[in-house]
Amino acid sequence: MNRRQFLGVLGALTWMGLSRRPFGWSLASEAETYPFRLPPLPYPYEALEPHIDARTMQIHHQGHHQTYVQNLNKALEELPQFQSWELERLLSHLSDVPSSHRTTIQNNGGGHWNHSFFWRILSPTPSEPSKALQARLEKVFGSWAAFRAKFLDTAAQLFGSGWVWLVQTPRGDLSIVPTANQDNPLMPHITPQGKPILGIDVWEHAYYLKYQNRRTEYLAAVWQVINWAQVEALLG
Ligand code: MN
Repeated sequence: MNRRQFLGVLGALTWMGLSRRPFGWSLASEAETYPFRLPPLPYPYEALEPHIDARTMQIHHQGHHQTYVQNLNKALEELPQFQSWELERLLSHLSDVPSSHRTTIQNNGGGHWNHSFFWRILSPTPSEPSKALQARLEKVFGSWAAFRAKFLDTAAQLFGSGWVWLVQTPRGDLSIVPTANQDNPLMPHITPQGKPILGIDVWEHAYYLKYQNRRTEYLAAVWQVINWAQVEALLG
């Protein structure tokens, strides 16, 4: 093992075991610890039309996301020792949570984190990935088209409800990872565990009103409203 590999392993171990905010960044929302609050959508409900319709956005934000926040708070009401924990710490240390509440925190904490992330990875202002971002992904996936195809195919093939992510591991590797339900790559049972760089919601509630069973049409549409500057900023 050379020095660089050693430092990489050391970094990964520190990241997994010691850090309160293991990914070095956070939701930057006003409510990072209990009681969590629904963050305002960073644009009006109709802003992503025609790609994502206003009614879907409203139900998704005020209905689904709000419910995850409420259920997360309800679970933490009964766990005062975890009320000072930031959400990322809870999700990356789920085994520390009592088994009586673990699944509730996983599902609803994941739901809150994932949707807070999702609203901000989308933008009504059309954008193109920068040359630098394209070059980084081309190095891993061969070409920008290959990256797009692999990401969207993974999303299309995900069975049932879940998310697809571009994940950066603590050692800097990038991979495309599907997760079930409201899981995400912050969670220790997801391989590889790492920092989400891009994520798309493929639950039917994200598209059914406008696209019904045509998930691939939704995926092509949501790709049109990705905030590539935000993706690049997360990649660091
Ligand atoms: Mn959703």
